Amino acid sequence: MAVGLIVAAALFLYEARKIVDDGLRDEEAFAVLGAANRLLHDLENAETGQRGYLLTGDERYLDIYRSGIEDLDDTVLLLQRVVTNDDKSVETVRRIEHAKTTKVSELARTVELARSGNRDAAIALVQTNEGERYMTTLRTELGDLLSDWRARRAAAVRDAHDRLLYGTVALAVLAVLICGLLIYTLFVQRRAFGKISAHSKALDRAAAHDPLTGLPNRRRLLAALDELAQSRTTAPDAERLALLYLDIDGFKGVNDALGHSAGDSLLRRLGETLRTATRAQDMLARVGGDEFVLIVPGYADDAQLREQAGRLIERVQQIGLRDYGGRFPLGVSVGIATWPDRVDAVEQLLDVADAAMYTAKQAGRSTYRFGARPGRQQGNVVTLPR
Ligand code: GH3
Ligand code: MG
Repeated sequence: MAVGLIVAAALFLYEARKIVDDGLRDEEAFAVLGAANRLLHDLENAETGQRGYLLTGDERYLDIYRSGIEDLDDTVLLLQRVVTNDDKSVETVRRIEHAKTTKVSELARTVELARSGNRDAAIALVQTNEGERYMTTLRTELGDLLSDWRARRAAAVRDAHDRLLYGTVALAVLAVLICGLLIYTLFVQRRAFGKISAHSKALDRAAAHDPLTGLPNRRRLLAALDELAQSRTTAPDAERLALLYLDIDGFKGVNDALGHSAGDSLLRRLGETLRTATRAQDMLARVGGDEFVLIVPGYADDAQLREQAGRLIERVQQIGLRDYGGRFPLGVSVGIATWPDRVDAVEQLLDVADAAMYTAKQAGRSTYRFGARPGRQQGNVVTLPR
């Protein structure tokens, strides 16, 4: 496309240059034709004046004669100047100049004779046809010059028309190519932006998600908690919020006995199972080795949280029983913190729930505990049977 653009632009410039050249040639031919016609016209005037004066003796014919010859020299000079670029025409003009000089001298001689009273001698001199011969030569030479330059002028005009057509085509091709190039540039730009934006989305996702389970990671969880804290600062009467801190019981047993990759598979399985045991509007994140956090916005009451914790414990226990045939007694210890009844600020939920989770561990695992800031309600501690 770039090569096409260059070729079309070069072609257009070439044709434009040629059109300008044709214009100059046309102008040059126009000047030659003008000067030649004027020369012929002036010579004919001079001859008409001479003949009239000789035949009638009327002085008014002398004015016509003089007006005919007075500009002849200048016109010949002009003619010489405008044909300088063409050798053949220079030669023709040289012959015209010679014939003109002899013709003018013949005219002058006869007029002088008549003015000095020898009209008959002057008429006799005219009747020798010497002047007529010079005039015929002049007419022939000027006629050749005129037809030659008329043909040149016509050729220049024809060529200019053709060049105009080629130039227009080159310009149209140029326009199409420029449009094509613009469209292509836009397309490439859009594709590049698309790639950058997809890459940036992938980076954002990678920065906010745990690559093993695909769940939001600690960073994403903290950002979500920040947002929740903000919204609850500006609207203190917002819906309640619960945070469940989960640490799998007996996870290391699988890792140690079956290897790290079996442990990874178990983590993925745990991620999926925990996710399916929660509501869509709740956020489940993996925050460390075998630690998960569940945020439950707008929960109804503690009973709902107890029921939620019990379901999570049961599902994890089922994995231990079904996937490993009871070889690894899996379970999960859950610490629960709630805002605004058990903590003063949303920022405290994580720490309080984490501490409650340790209490649940110490209480024998596969159980949950509610945690609270000092001075807040400490009740609702329930232990599930293993
Ligand atoms: P507890 O009942 O006291 O919670 O003990 P546990 O066996 O569950 O083990 P613990 O929670 O103390 O430690 C979790 C282990 O998980 C520690 C680490 O070796 C392992 N771990 C951490 N991250 C990964 C991981 O990405 N993949 C695997 N396979 N193991 C991990
Ligand atoms: Mg653990």
